[in-house]
Amino acid sequence: MAARPRIPSSDSFEWQQVWKAPVSLKVVTTAWKVLKQRMATCDNLQRRQVLISSSEARCTLCKLNEESIEHLFFDCQKAVEIWNEILIWIGKLAVNHHTAKDHFLAFTNLGRKEDISFLTCVWICTIWCLWKLRNGCKFNQELWSKDKMIAEIKSRLWSWRMAFDFKTPATVFRRWCAAANLSG
Ligand SMILES: [Zn+2]
Repeated sequence: MAARPRIPSSDSFEWQQVWKAPVSLKVVTTAWKVLKQRMATCDNLQRRQVLISSSEARCTLCKLNEESIEHLFFDCQKAVEIWNEILIWIGKLAVNHHTAKDHFLAFTNLGRKEDISFLTCVWICTIWCLWKLRNGCKFNQELWSKDKMIAEIKSRLWSWRMAFDFKTPATVFRRWCAAANLSG
C-alpha cells in the first residue's frame, strides 16, 4: 500500500473517514474525487471545455441520461441495482440519496459505530467498481453484468478483510458472500 500524506485536519468528516480506509491510495482517491465532485465524468469534462459529442456524453451504463457524478454513481438505474443488492447483503434498508456526500453519510451510518469502518470500505469499493466498469464499458466494450459486479465488490472487500473487525472468527468466504456480518 502506498504511503499517503497526512489527513488535512480541517477537512470534513466524510473525507477523514475515507482517508482512514485501509485500501490502496488509488481506490481512496477515486472515492475522494467523487465526494469532492472532481471525477472526469462527461459533465465535468464539458465544464472544462473538453469537447464531447452528445452521444459520448451519455451515461455508458444506461445510455439514457447525461453522465454526471450523481447520475453515474447514485441515480443511474444500473447503479441503483448494485446499491440495492449491497443493502440486501448487509441486511439494511435505506432510501437512495442523490448526492455523494448524503449518500456516503447515510450509508456509513446504517450500522452501529463499530460498523462505520466496514461500511466505509463497502461504499468506497462499490464506487471504485462502478467507475472501473464505466471505463471498461466506455473504452473496452465490456458488458454490464450485475452479478459480476457484485461478485467483484465482495471479493475485493474480502481481500481487505484483515482490516475489518469480523465478529465471527469462523467466517468463511462463501457464507460471508451470502450475508455480511454487521455488528448490530
Ligand atoms: Zn445511467
